[in-house]
Amino acid sequence: MRRYEDTYLHKGLRKQLITYLRDIRGIRDNRVLEAMNQVPRHYFLDSAFDRIAYDDRAFPIGEGQTISQPYTVAYQSQLLEVKPTDSILEIGTGSIYQASVLAAMGADVFTIERQRKLFDAQNDFPLRERFPNIHFFYGDGYKGLPDYAPFDKIIITAAAPYIPEKLMAQLKVGGKMVLPVQDEEEFQTMMRITKNDDGTWEEETFEHFSFVPMLEGSSDQGQSPR
Ligand code: SAH
Repeated sequence: MRRYEDTYLHKGLRKQLITYLRDIRGIRDNRVLEAMNQVPRHYFLDSAFDRIAYDDRAFPIGEGQTISQPYTVAYQSQLLEVKPTDSILEIGTGSIYQASVLAAMGADVFTIERQRKLFDAQNDFPLRERFPNIHFFYGDGYKGLPDYAPFDKIIITAAAPYIPEKLMAQLKVGGKMVLPVQDEEEFQTMMRITKNDDGTWEEETFEHFSFVPMLEGSSDQGQSPR
């Protein structure tokens, strides 16, 4: 069994990462920075990455998937304008890092993963007791979670080929969805959608990012990019 320890070295490296995100990368939401300072990112990675867990880069987490870069997590979290009372739907649980950052901000997080192995890893999640407000689901994120809708916020952490309609239907009026939408070959534009009371929505576009693709169906059904 792996032992999880958050040493002074880890805490120091984490502080440096937070300072970098604020002073160099321009992340302004202090609640996001505080949450990222609370969540030990090295717990979400293979122990081989222990010393580099606080570099601003993505890492492999198995099944050909990656834990997002800290800047990307900070950026998406900031765009979500998280309130402690929010109920948030996340598509793409992956390492559970993004979900934990949102949970550390007090939100109720409903997270869906389509890869069976990654979903099953939640059984060994070392911060389970600390974050009882994360709820895990296995399945196809394109379908969302109609039984738990509507959500205040929705975050997609894989490259979406378009704005998924079923998810828009599960967003509250005035709610926001943050997602990377495919544009050129390998890049996506970060978008924020705000739902109006007449069913229409406002779209804002932001920086370019590079995510793994949002695939249709769950892994038990085989995978097919859309
Ligand atoms: N939020 C994650 C990022 C993981 S990468 C983290 O913090 O680590 C994106 C994840 O989305 C992968 O685990 C991938 O399997 C998952 N994914 C891709 N398409 C999906 C879909 N349709 N439904 C649910 N999860 C999906």
